Amino acid sequence: MEIPPPVELKLPLIVPHKVLMGPGPSNAAPRILQALSQPVLGHMHPELFTIMDEIKKGIQYIFQTKNELTLAISASGHAGLEAVMCNLLEPGDTVLVLVNGIWGERAANIAERNGAVVQKLQKSNSNDNFSIIEIENAIKGYLPKLVFVVQGESSTGIYQPLDGIGEITRRYNCLLAVDTVASLGSVPMFMDQWKIDALYTGCQKIIGVPPGVTPISFSQKAHNVIFNRKTKIPVYYLDMTLLGQQWNCFEKNLPRLYHHTTSANLLYALREGLAIVADEELENVIERHQRCAERLYKGIELLGLEFYIEDEVKRLPSVTTIKVPKGVDWKNVVDYAMKNYKFELSGGLGPTVGKVFRIGIMGYNATPENIDKTLQILKEALAYSKNDSK
Ligand code: PMP
Repeated sequence: MEIPPPVELKLPLIVPHKVLMGPGPSNAAPRILQALSQPVLGHMHPELFTIMDEIKKGIQYIFQTKNELTLAISASGHAGLEAVMCNLLEPGDTVLVLVNGIWGERAANIAERNGAVVQKLQKSNSNDNFSIIEIENAIKGYLPKLVFVVQGESSTGIYQPLDGIGEITRRYNCLLAVDTVASLGSVPMFMDQWKIDALYTGCQKIIGVPPGVTPISFSQKAHNVIFNRKTKIPVYYLDMTLLGQQWNCFEKNLPRLYHHTTSANLLYALREGLAIVADEELENVIERHQRCAERLYKGIELLGLEFYIEDEVKRLPSVTTIKVPKGVDWKNVVDYAMKNYKFELSGGLGPTVGKVFRIGIMGYNATPENIDKTLQILKEALAYSKNDSK
C-alpha cells in the first residue's frame, strides 16, 4: 500500500473526563452509556422496531402530543430544522421567522435554500423576546404559510413563551414550527394544546444522549400539507413520507420501509434518555432545571456579575448568559476552567460572541453540586484572569 496505516491509530483511544456545563452537549448518564454498548441490531430487526415504537411513545410524552407522525431523525438538531423547512415549504411559499439570535438566523438561511420567501420579525436587541402583539401583527402583515419560532435561543439565553401563538397561526391558517433543541425539559411544552404543527428537540442537551438523533413530530395539519405538496420533497434523507413508513407512523399494516440504516445503538441511548425522563416525570425534570437555574442566578448575583437577560422571566433556565465584566478576557476564563478543572464553561455565540459567558444546566448535569462547582470555578477563573490582565 502506498499509504501506510497511520501510527496514531496504533495508540489506544484516550478520551478525557470533562464536566460539560456549556450549552450542550451535556454529560450522558451512566445508564445511557451502558445502553450504547449493547449489541448492534439490524435496522430491520423486529426487536429494533419494538424499541422504535417505545421511543415514539417517549417522544409523544415529552412533547405532550398524540401525533402519529412522530419519530427520531438520524442526525443532529440541525436536521430537525432542515426537515421542517424541506417538508413544509415549497418554492415561493412565505415563511415568517422570529429572529433574536443565531438559530432564527439559521432557520431563515435554511428556508431560503428551500426556495421560500423569507420574512423576518427581528429584535433590535438580542436580549429580548417577542410579544404576542408583535407576532400577530407580523403574521397579519405577511400572511405566511409557516411561522418559525425558537423556544430557547441558546446563543443569547432568551426564552420565547409560546402560549397563544398557535391560536393566531390557526386563525390566519398558517403552520407553526418550533425549535426546542435547547429548551425542552427545562420549560413547559404542550405541543397539542399549544397548536404547534412541527416540533423538534435535541437529544444531547436535557435528554443527555450523545448527539446524533433528533426527536421530531408533525401535527395532522402538517401531515396533510406534506402529503399534498405540488413538488417533491427536495431532500430524500429527511422525507417524512418515507421516514414515517420506516417508523410505522401511517397505516399499521403498511410494511416497514428500509429508508436508511438507523443507528441501533444511538436509538438504545435515546430510549434510555427518554426512559430516565419518564421515570423522573417531566414536571419534576422541569422543576429540577428551574431550581438549579435559581441557585445559579443567586450565585451570579453574589459574585457581582450582570445577566445578559435582565428580566428573570425571560431567561431560559437551561442556558444562562452572563456579561463578561470589563477588563476580563472571556477566553482566559473559559480556558482556566478547562485547564484546571476539565470543566466546560462557554463563551458567546452569534450576537453574543465576546460579550457573554454561557452556562448550561442540562439533564444529568443539572444538580445543585454542579451549580456550586460552576460558581466556585467561575469566581476563581475571573480572579485569575483579572490578575492576569494587569
Ligand atoms: N437549535 C438550537 C436552539 C440549538 O441550541 C442548537 C445546538 N446548539 C441547534 C438548533 C442545532 O443543533 P445541533 O448542533 O445538534 O445540530
